[in-house]
Amino acid sequence: MRLILLGPPGAGKGTQAQRLISKYGIIQLSTGDMLRAAVAAGSAVGLRAKAIMDRGKLVPDEVVVAIVADRIDQPDARRGIVLDGFPRTVAQAEALDRLLSERSLKLDAVIELRVDEGILLKRIEKRVAEMTARGEKLRSDDNPEVLKGRLAAYRAQTAPLANYYAAKGLLRAVDGMAPIDEVTAAIDAILAKAMAGKAARRGGKPAKAARAKGRGGKRRAAKAAKRAKAPARRGRATGSKRGKAARAGRLKNKAGMRKSGSRRRLTKAR
Ligand code: AMP
Repeated sequence: MRLILLGPPGAGKGTQAQRLISKYGIIQLSTGDMLRAAVAAGSAVGLRAKAIMDRGKLVPDEVVVAIVADRIDQPDARRGIVLDGFPRTVAQAEALDRLLSERSLKLDAVIELRVDEGILLKRIEKRVAEMTARGEKLRSDDNPEVLKGRLAAYRAQTAPLANYYAAKGLLRAVDGMAPIDEVTAAIDAILAKAMAGKAARRGGKPAKAARAKGRGGKRRAAKAAKRAKAPARRGRATGSKRGKAARAGRLKNKAGMRKSGSRRRLTKAR
């Protein structure tokens, strides 16, 4: 199973992705988490991404596409992936299409968590205030100002992906403002339908292909048998010695049958 969770920051993609990985045994591929890990590790990618992330802007496409390509090639990604926070631009979506088709893989669904941005912003402001009051550590981009920038980036660069995937017939929307369990149930229902459709397509195709192969196989076998029976006739066409001998034999038989009247008797018996 391969799916994308689409939605603005704070829509609950991470929470739902966690539930999906425990339910389906797939991996979560969160470019935000991977970039934060790169920043913490002080890697070249991290150094390049940090300042951009702190401003709430998008890291260049080629950077995130490269980390996604690496991750989907790892063995644990074979069972499935839930992409969270990627793709974020149409160019990233196109790159993902290429990555998947080069590996003969397909997306099963793109689930958009639809939320009211005004309410979302208030929720996040409240959460940030509560965490600050408790003295908990915040993400460096988890403050209302940066969040506004992240929402603007989502609207301008990521929201168009809904149309991109709708045109491919992959987009399904759920109400991201509903209670978490209800969102999970809605996602489960979408995935159950998508996977049933996939199983039906898989079940149908090989059966059909096998039938066609069977028919072709029989035809091929009949032709081969005919060919095996026909060396004498082919010989006649080419005028080979074997063909001549066979023809002579047949003529001898015919003459013999005429003599004994067996040919007439045979005709009568038919
Ligand atoms: P997230 O945790 O998904 O909200 O991502 C945090 C930050 O990481 C974003 O505000 C971006 O700066 C960066 N980021 C994460 N994913 C991507 C992506 N697919 N493309 C570009 N930048 C990304």
